[in-house]
Amino acid sequence: MLDVDRASRLGVNLLSLDEPKMARLVRQLGWPSYRSGQILRWLYQRRARTIDQMTDLSQTDRKKLSAEARIGRASECTVLRSRDGTSKFILTLDDGVQVEAVLIPDDDRLTLCVSTQAGCTLDCGFCLTGTMGLKRNLKPHEIIEQVLTAQEYLPSDERISNMVFMGMGEPLANLDSLSEAIRRLTNNRWGLGWSPRRITVSTAGMASRLNALAPLGVNLAVSLNATTEEQRARLMPAVNGVASLKTLLSACRRYPLAPNRRVTFEYVLLADVNDRAADAERLIKLIRGIRCKVNLIPFNPFPGSAFRRPSDREVLLFQSILRKARIDVFIRKSRGRDVLGACGQLGNLTSSSERTLTQIESRC
Ligand code: SAH
Repeated sequence: MLDVDRASRLGVNLLSLDEPKMARLVRQLGWPSYRSGQILRWLYQRRARTIDQMTDLSQTDRKKLSAEARIGRASECTVLRSRDGTSKFILTLDDGVQVEAVLIPDDDRLTLCVSTQAGCTLDCGFCLTGTMGLKRNLKPHEIIEQVLTAQEYLPSDERISNMVFMGMGEPLANLDSLSEAIRRLTNNRWGLGWSPRRITVSTAGMASRLNALAPLGVNLAVSLNATTEEQRARLMPAVNGVASLKTLLSACRRYPLAPNRRVTFEYVLLADVNDRAADAERLIKLIRGIRCKVNLIPFNPFPGSAFRRPSDREVLLFQSILRKARIDVFIRKSRGRDVLGACGQLGNLTSSSERTLTQIESRC
């Protein structure tokens, strides 16, 4: 853990600077402006951990930079590996707060599920993260840290192919950090060079903020989870207080979808709560006319949760009703459940209870 005094003695964390701030630092050091891109490339493309690794800066310049700055990567990371190949990363940040990311291999994809907050302000009744409240928003570099760490964990010939902002927290409640993190991820000159088409941001329904996503070029997923106002108010009270189901769906209808893109609607299936034929029929009506697909997520239980997972038969039945209405509908495979790495299972358990659940594979 880094106390404030020690942090200031060590200088500014280069990863905390956006492009204009990096340019200012470079100017203050009296260096030519191209040096800013050079340093940024070391941070994001070459994942340097020390200023000394920046070998295209002279020894003297590296010393000069080290006097002012440091590279503050996460001090500690625990990796839990699931029997199904999913890996959950628990990162400890400067102030001791922990945040989780999950790497999910599947056929030809390798998807990283990223967190935007430690905890969450929302209180969706079926989500473990919701029970812990919000510890704090993540900063842009703490979001990027999850990507850098996961990439470093992989063999050099393996690349993360897709990124979903579906980890801990509500991405649109931390919009500034989210946007800056996406800018660094998608920057081709010095950033990670990600295509925004491979990035999906999932929201519980902060309708008034949807439009902020469009200019970033990423995909939009909306967690619907209910088909009546009452049901949604019961299951997702906080977010439903901000925007009703009706408001949310009209925001989705107005969303400036790029050609060839679709909105993804996520729908957590809770046995005997929202998984009946009548729910499926209402869902069809609600999303009619929106270019979309539906991802059904059978509920992933966690200790103390009040809901049940429907049987496979019930899930297939729900899917078939949507299919008949010609909706593209997929069932999200549950991955990493044994390490509490599946949807809605991130956070809150004490590390000692996690240890009884899982085997710690490595620390990095
Ligand atoms: N706050 C954002 C992103 C995090 S949740 C959002 O709500 O979209 C990512 C997805 O997991 C959401 O679709 C959410 O509805 C779903 N989810 C939450 N808890 C779950 C659980 N216990 N089982 C299955 N899916 C869950």
